[in-house]
Amino acid sequence: ANALPYRGRFAPSPTGDLHPGSLLAALGSWLLARHAGGEWWVRIEDLDPPREVAGAAERQLATLAALGLRPDAPVVRQSDRHALYAAALERLLDQGLAFACHCTRSELAATHGIHRACVARTRRRQPAIRLRVPEGSVVSFEDLIQGPRQQDVAREVGDFVLRRADGLWAYQLAVVVDDAHQGITDVVRGADLLDSTGRQILLQRALGLPVPRHAHLPLVTDADGRKLSKSEGSAPLGQDALQASLAQAWRALGQDPGALAGASDPPALLALAAARFDPARIPATLPPRVQTMR
Ligand code: GLU
Repeated sequence: ANALPYRGRFAPSPTGDLHPGSLLAALGSWLLARHAGGEWWVRIEDLDPPREVAGAAERQLATLAALGLRPDAPVVRQSDRHALYAAALERLLDQGLAFACHCTRSELAATHGIHRACVARTRRRQPAIRLRVPEGSVVSFEDLIQGPRQQDVAREVGDFVLRRADGLWAYQLAVVVDDAHQGITDVVRGADLLDSTGRQILLQRALGLPVPRHAHLPLVTDADGRKLSKSEGSAPLGQDALQASLAQAWRALGQDPGALAGASDPPALLALAAARFDPARIPATLPPRVQTMR
């Protein structure tokens, strides 16, 4: 354990049951927090009701509990925190860092969906709100697993949405507001979110918020190399399958499979894992064979 403060988190969206990919994020973020002698928090990211699956948040929390992954603070839900996102948006609008945008998807098709300037021909009843991303907004950061990264957010993403035209908060805004509000020092999550990090750092700077450290875990894909997604709705895992998934996540983190031998239930497995975990072994990417192993 080191003396630096460390607070990590696992932030699932309740769009289905936990699957091997989200279990890897849960286990990886928990192990890194424990290894640093820090805290591990859980936040339910339920800001997209159309994509939400009824009961999924409760089942995700029950799965974490069954595994023995206990958060160090009460679980928060983003759906309870609209006022925080509204206040942040207001600040950005007041400072001229965000703007109302009436452009439609088809109007932005010519620039591949990248917004650089408004081209709307008509006004919407409720416009989207975007963060202004000036030319030359190149963000660099050091990912603890993926190494040094750089993204030209203006060219690759453009002005990006903070509140959608349908009134829903964008993930980028909510995650940045919550990570800062909760004092998260370390963002550990799947590498599918690596390309959101540049946007989030720009938002942190615009809002005057601290930039956390980042560690993006290798992506678990199916046999065809596709990302596993909660929305694809696999059945909830039973106890044996949970234990197998935990062991699979442990291997995907590059850890010694033999280290967990003899554990009789998931909490015992977790205790062994915490004792034997070596962060230096986490790979940036996974070879296909590991990905398909069950
Ligand atoms: N809620 C996001 C997801 O489940 C993760 C957000 C994050 O870790 O930053 O994909």
